Amino acid sequence: MKYKLETIPVWDAFKEDCECPFCQLQEKAEKRYLKYYLGNSAMNPETRVELNKTGFCPEHFSKLLLERSPQHLGLITHTHLQDWMDDRRKRFPSGGKGADPAESEKKKGLFSRKISAAAAYSRHCGQRSRRCLICDRIERTIKRYTFTTCYLWKRDEEGFREFMKNTKGFCIPHENALLLMAEEILKSSEQESFYADVKELQQKNFERLEEEINWFTQKFKAENNSKPWGSSEDAHYRVIQKLTGRLTPH
Ligand SMILES: [Zn+2]
Ligand SMILES: [Zn+2]
Repeated sequence: MKYKLETIPVWDAFKEDCECPFCQLQEKAEKRYLKYYLGNSAMNPETRVELNKTGFCPEHFSKLLLERSPQHLGLITHTHLQDWMDDRRKRFPSGGKGADPAESEKKKGLFSRKISAAAAYSRHCGQRSRRCLICDRIERTIKRYTFTTCYLWKRDEEGFREFMKNTKGFCIPHENALLLMAEEILKSSEQESFYADVKELQQKNFERLEEEINWFTQKFKAENNSKPWGSSEDAHYRVIQKLTGRLTPH
């Protein structure tokens, strides 16, 4: 697959003193997409069709609400609701005995046995309400950034390898995304050396963070009251970011 190189934003994010440059990039991308879906450009017919069908996950619906653009949000939720209503009319279970899974689901091998009509319906609704245009776009954006990172590492442009070794590493979800990209685009000899670099960087930084959160917990003991926090004061936020790939406001 072809990806676009985006060296400037990637370098800028790597230069920030943070637990994961991709979390920073992700947050910026998310802000852009939240604005986009509440702006006039999202009102074109093609985007509206996509919006009606897919909608947003619970997290992004909540974030759209916080953008305070009720008129646009009203318009898109109205037609999205109509799409859900059509879907429900077609799929609502009639009750009673168990139902065979739909043919399309059988083909995908999703069900090996009969499930009840209510269970099939509930599964469909659950899957549908987790789909999200913003999550999809963020995922594609992060692929461009992890591609760029592998490219910079491969070419060692402007001493990128050494620079990366001195960062604070990555959160777990973005570390995973980076390894998958490396597997996709690097030769196996390069992969070996890239994985070794990432492993060492991550190990060092998980140990550093573990020490910080340890001191954070010790600070609540009376005998440590007057001792300095050092870098531990917001360690709990950074541990959560490291584990979840989400920046939390603090
Ligand atoms: Zn991250
Ligand atoms: Zn989402």
